[in-house]
Amino acid sequence: MNRGYMGKILMVDLSKGEFREETIRDEVYEKYLSGLGLAAYLLHDRIPAGADPLGPENVLGFVSGLLTGTGSLFAGRWMVVGKSPLTGTWGDANCGGSFSPAIKRCGYDGIFFTGASEKPVYLYIKNNKIELKDASSLWGKDAIESEELLQEQHGRGARVAVIGPSGEKLSLISGICNDKGRIAARSGLGAVMGSKKLKAVVLDGKKRIASYDQAAVRKLSKKCNKWVQFQLPLGPSIGAGLLGTLLRVLPTAMAMDGMIYKMILRQWGTGGLNQMSPEWGDSPIKNWKGSSTDWPLKRSKSADPDKIKRTEFVKYHCYSCPLGCGGKCSMTGKYSETHKPEYESVLALGGLCMNEDTDSLFLLNEMLNRGGMDTISAGATIAFAMECYERGIVTREDMDGIDLAWGNADAMVVLVHKMINREGIGDLLADGSRLAAERIGKGAHLYAVHAGGQEPAMHDGRQDPGFAVHYSVEPTPGRHTIGSQLYYEMFQLWKKVKGLPGKWPFQIYHKNTKYKASIDKAKEAAACSKYMNVINGSGLCMFGTFLGVTRTPTFDWLNAVTGWNKTPEEYMEIGARIQTLKQAFNIRQGVEPKNNKLSGRALGLPPQAEGANKGRTVPIDKMMEDYWQQFGWDSSTGKPTVDTLVRLGIDAR
Ligand code: SF4
Repeated sequence: MNRGYMGKILMVDLSKGEFREETIRDEVYEKYLSGLGLAAYLLHDRIPAGADPLGPENVLGFVSGLLTGTGSLFAGRWMVVGKSPLTGTWGDANCGGSFSPAIKRCGYDGIFFTGASEKPVYLYIKNNKIELKDASSLWGKDAIESEELLQEQHGRGARVAVIGPSGEKLSLISGICNDKGRIAARSGLGAVMGSKKLKAVVLDGKKRIASYDQAAVRKLSKKCNKWVQFQLPLGPSIGAGLLGTLLRVLPTAMAMDGMIYKMILRQWGTGGLNQMSPEWGDSPIKNWKGSSTDWPLKRSKSADPDKIKRTEFVKYHCYSCPLGCGGKCSMTGKYSETHKPEYESVLALGGLCMNEDTDSLFLLNEMLNRGGMDTISAGATIAFAMECYERGIVTREDMDGIDLAWGNADAMVVLVHKMINREGIGDLLADGSRLAAERIGKGAHLYAVHAGGQEPAMHDGRQDPGFAVHYSVEPTPGRHTIGSQLYYEMFQLWKKVKGLPGKWPFQIYHKNTKYKASIDKAKEAAACSKYMNVINGSGLCMFGTFLGVTRTPTFDWLNAVTGWNKTPEEYMEIGARIQTLKQAFNIRQGVEPKNNKLSGRALGLPPQAEGANKGRTVPIDKMMEDYWQQFGWDSSTGKPTVDTLVRLGIDAR
């Protein structure tokens, strides 16, 4: 039966050099979808309790999505999964490009690695032939160079996921790259790949991906594409910056329609927020202790979206994406080009470190992409080190003679090189801010902003408390790609799912209401988590789903592709099952969910004295309890109850 999924996974035992195909029953897809859900189902008890994330017992998986390759739009995301060495929790990271369909074209919904090789290897699949090949000559080379060499050898059609030197050197903030420096950056899974001595996965298959009702899929995609193509002229980017100022000074906020964000993405990419977000308090500044006052428009213009766009020489789309927010930019110096720096990278390496040097943003972006290191965690760790330096907790001598004053772009370039290669002080900083603070001591932990060990992204929970909640409650703590009050408004799930709080189009509300815990807010946060599990089981891009569930028809695509005829509520129940299984994974690994709460500074403890988020504190304990309750988990511990596990059909021994 044609149902969009391939019905098989590949298990690769790197210790023995053996391969094994496993057939997955249809019922598993019906309960967990594919992608992230399938991975959670498979890894829950295949990774032993208490497993060392960098030991051979950890399992590293590369999964595609149920909708990938079916003609559904925005369905080109792949995920890497495993136990995170950064947080000790369930770990996953997500990336676009062209690797996701390549997994399915080899005949698999996922490829999983157990054990560890003694010498560097890469997996090569060409049609039905599967080989582990020697990667000694690639070890030490950066991610882009390695990909180019592998494509020279295996042809331009081969799709490559690869680690850079930071993954090889087991940096806990390293990720896995594809499409020449795009990176599945979060959770430190590059280090898991490095620990297995697996340099790359190279895929070149030709298998057909078939849907139940191809005509219906095509019809849905055509309708969705009409919304994607609708675009109003947005004018110069300073307008977006000034809109941010207006949003800051108004006492009211407005329910956002994702069409607006879609138009920003289309015009500038995620960098369209570079000046707007700091203005209205969405971007943390100066290691989260600063504010919009420290980073006014005249400073944030160093990353003016129009200025960056002028360097863009080509735009690109991920597989099956009609929007295309990506681009390549030209630069001068050691490298001639880089991926258009994303908003997260620009703010983590810019405002968070008070760095106004535009050229350095491009250079750091390219260095980190090549090194295979997460730009968010790298920038946040440098910002942490800068604050330690300012406070005299570390000296210039401790920093290998580097003057780590706020905004010193040259120092950042030297430091990033050292972090990627674990040289000198870079060795201490290469595992993120929490471990760096432990190594430094002297109270440095007070200045490391993280949730469960992972640095949160550049979205401030003091502006949108939904971010603070998801950073704190998700089984992968510190993640920004799951939910927020803003995301809930854009998903517009209430239009399809019964029982969810609704919003009027462009509903105006007083900002103060954002900072009060309520059952409706908990329902909204839980709905975001459930829906994102459906999205990540489908292989969809979150940006595409921001158009709203009636314009980007996730549930309808799933029914057309699989022939299931499930209701939106049934899909949301699948999302709840995946969320609960990931949480059960954490409990089995000995994680205490309460310990993943975001650092106090980022919650407004104490509140800021000035700027966009002045005087705000997130009532996080109550919000976490309410969220856990929505899932039927113990509201005081965050542990799934037996009743909930039974109801969802989860065997969580
Ligand atoms: S919106 Fe951007 S990130 Fe998402 S699939 Fe399209 S090009 Fe890729």
